[in-house]
Amino acid sequence: MPTFVRTEKCDGCKGQDKTACMYICPHDLMALDKDGSVTGHPMKAWNQEPEQCWECYSCVKICPQNAIEVRHYADIVPLGGSVQPLRGSDSIMWMIKFRNGTAKRFKFPIRTTSEGSIDPYGGKSMPKLADIQKSGFFTLSGGFRAGKQEELIRRK
Ligand code: SF4
Ligand code: SF4
Repeated sequence: MPTFVRTEKCDGCKGQDKTACMYICPHDLMALDKDGSVTGHPMKAWNQEPEQCWECYSCVKICPQNAIEVRHYADIVPLGGSVQPLRGSDSIMWMIKFRNGTAKRFKFPIRTTSEGSIDPYGGKSMPKLADIQKSGFFTLSGGFRAGKQEELIRRK
């Protein structure tokens, strides 16, 4: 299910050049329509290519206004259902609405570190492809190979 910006909730991240959803999207799909020439809504974000969406929901979770909703493709599932997150300071609540009006809520804890503060390599240097290939988990072409029996964690 791709994402959809509810323009009545989006505040354009208060005019920042790079909004939170633009910062986080791994596929660079989110954009800010500064003058409203694309969407008719100035200073509102939009998903430029819903069909290219990875459906990772990073933008959904990071939006400070809870303005990004998840919707299924209308040609697969008729409109009427929705998935909307509600962010708290230490948790996220997913509100699932079904077409018949039934609503279900699921609450999960979230990370509390600030954006950009993560240390992905735990203080070590970024690994190089050559080092990874030396480990034997990749073929020389860089592709995956099936795991060897002795490497499997769940051995019988
Ligand atoms: Fe709008 Fe949310 Fe994107 Fe900010 S993160 S621009 S509020 S949709
Ligand atoms: Fe980008 Fe992921 Fe949001 Fe899709 S769900 S627009 S890929 S951040």
